[in-house]
Amino acid sequence: MNLPEYVYFRGEVRRYMDVQFGLLTHALNYGTGAFGGVRAYKNEQSGKLFLFRPLDHYKRFLNSAKMLLMDFDETPESMTQHTVDLIKKSGYKEDVYIRPLAFVSEEIIGVKLHDVRSDFGIVAVPFGKYVSNDTNAHVTISSWRRLDDNSIPARGKITGAYVSSAFIKTDAVRSGFDEALVLTVDGHLSEGSAENLFMVRDNVLYTPPVTDNILEGITRRSIMEVAEKELGVKVVERLIDRTEAYICDELFMTGTAAQVTAITKVDHRPVGSGEMGPIAAQLRELFFGIVRGENEKYAHWNYEVK
Ligand code: PMP
Repeated sequence: MNLPEYVYFRGEVRRYMDVQFGLLTHALNYGTGAFGGVRAYKNEQSGKLFLFRPLDHYKRFLNSAKMLLMDFDETPESMTQHTVDLIKKSGYKEDVYIRPLAFVSEEIIGVKLHDVRSDFGIVAVPFGKYVSNDTNAHVTISSWRRLDDNSIPARGKITGAYVSSAFIKTDAVRSGFDEALVLTVDGHLSEGSAENLFMVRDNVLYTPPVTDNILEGITRRSIMEVAEKELGVKVVERLIDRTEAYICDELFMTGTAAQVTAITKVDHRPVGSGEMGPIAAQLRELFFGIVRGENEKYAHWNYEVK
C-alpha cells in the first residue's frame, strides 16, 4: 500500500511523515486505542465524493474513545469536517477508506487508562475491495471465540481487541477460506473477523443482537432498514446457532470494508443453492446505489465532500 501524503492530527492537516511516535507509545504496547472505518464513494455521473453515514461513524468512534476514558473536544460534525478537509487537501477524486484512530499517545510504562495523554488522528487512503470473493465467499467457523463484553467490548472497536480478529482471519486464510465466523463464549454465531453477519431462513432475515458481542455496525443498521423498507423482508435480531449456518437459505456479511459480501459455502457445505441468493443480491445492488449517491430516498446518508 502506498502511504498517504497527509493526515489530520492535532488540529490540522499535516504531512503523514511529520507524525511520529516512539517505541514506548502506550497504545503500541498495550493496545489502548480505538478506531473507526468510514468510506467515501465516488458518484461516476457527477464526479462527486460522498462519505457514507460519517456522523454515525463518528458518534460510535467518540463513544469508543469514551469507554477508554478519552475525552476529546470534538463532535461527530467536527470530526466529519476534519475528514472533508483531509480528503480535499489530499486531492482524492476516487473511492477512499478513512481511518480515524484515537490512542493513548503518552510514552510511558504502566498499564492503565487514567492520567495519560491521548490523541487522535485521521488517515485516508484510496481503497477498493476488502474481501476479493465478495459474491462467493467460502467461510469456516473459527476455533477462536469472540471476546466478551466484560473482557474487551466488541462495541468499542478497541485496537487491542483486533489481535483476536487477526488470529481468526489468518487461521481462516491459511486454511484456504476467505473469512471465518466466530462463536461467542456461549457458542452462538456472533460475526466475522471484521463484518457483521446476516442469515436468511424462509424469507426472514436474521442477525445476532447487539448484546451478543458484535460491533454495532453502521452497514448492519443500514441493511436492516433497507431490507425492511425496500424488500419488505422481516428482520429479526436473535441468537443464531452454528448449525443454522449449515442449513439456511442465504448467508452474508456486512461492513464498511466488506460492504455486502455473500457467503456461498460454510465449512465445505453449500449455502442454499451454493450461489449468492436473491436477498443478498438485491441488497448488494441497493447498497451500492445508495452509497454512490444514486438513490434519492437515502440521500440523507450521503455527506458530500465539498
Ligand atoms: N464487526 C467488526 C468486528 C468490525 O471490525 C466491523 C468493521 N468496522 C464490522 C463488524 C462492520 O461495522 P461497520 O458496518 O460499521 O463498518
